[in-house]
Amino acid sequence: MALSAGLAGCPVSFSGLGAYQRGLNGRARTAVCFANFERAGHAVTDGPAMAAGFAAVPAGAEAPLPADEHWMREAIDLARQAASAGEVPVGALVLSEGRVVGRGFNQPLATHDPTAHAEVQALRDAGRTLGNYRLPGCTLVVTLEPCAMCAGAIQHARIARLVFGAHDPKTGACGSVVDLFAEPRLNHHARVTPGVLGAECGRQLSAFFQERRRAAR
Ligand SMILES: [Zn+2]
Repeated sequence: MALSAGLAGCPVSFSGLGAYQRGLNGRARTAVCFANFERAGHAVTDGPAMAAGFAAVPAGAEAPLPADEHWMREAIDLARQAASAGEVPVGALVLSEGRVVGRGFNQPLATHDPTAHAEVQALRDAGRTLGNYRLPGCTLVVTLEPCAMCAGAIQHARIARLVFGAHDPKTGACGSVVDLFAEPRLNHHARVTPGVLGAECGRQLSAFFQERRRAAR
């Protein structure tokens, strides 16, 4: 299913995406987009913003499952730990057969590690838990659309399903900038469900940047 977004503002509802969302549970979800957004905490002009013409919805996007919101709330809690440490609030977890086997939150500043995004942290934790560098059948839940690096890590890990919250039009690799999960030349494709609690995930990021700007004045 190829979906395109006509953005009149943000938060924004995607008409195509809305079709399956309404079909699932009768509730419309919104996808929050962030322009000029940097995870690593450099100068930003962040917050809900318009990105005219940007196609935020991944090709082949799948409907949420009933438990997705529950796990996203746990990922939001993990993101809160990042914020309290002064890191951009992104949280992630890995599920295997309905239980959490890996948790992570954004930590590039504290660890001096540009790869320490929430998804990578959660994948490493899950790999240790399961004793395997491959995580077949697992689901990764993250509060922000993964970047290209994390999308690559997700594919290397053989994650079966990706669930993310807010869209990231600056670095998102699930349809916002590129869609690495719809690239036929790559040999693994996780199924993708976008926009789960997207507005709430977006507000968490906005609040973090607003507070940081206030403190810098
Ligand atoms: Zn990333």
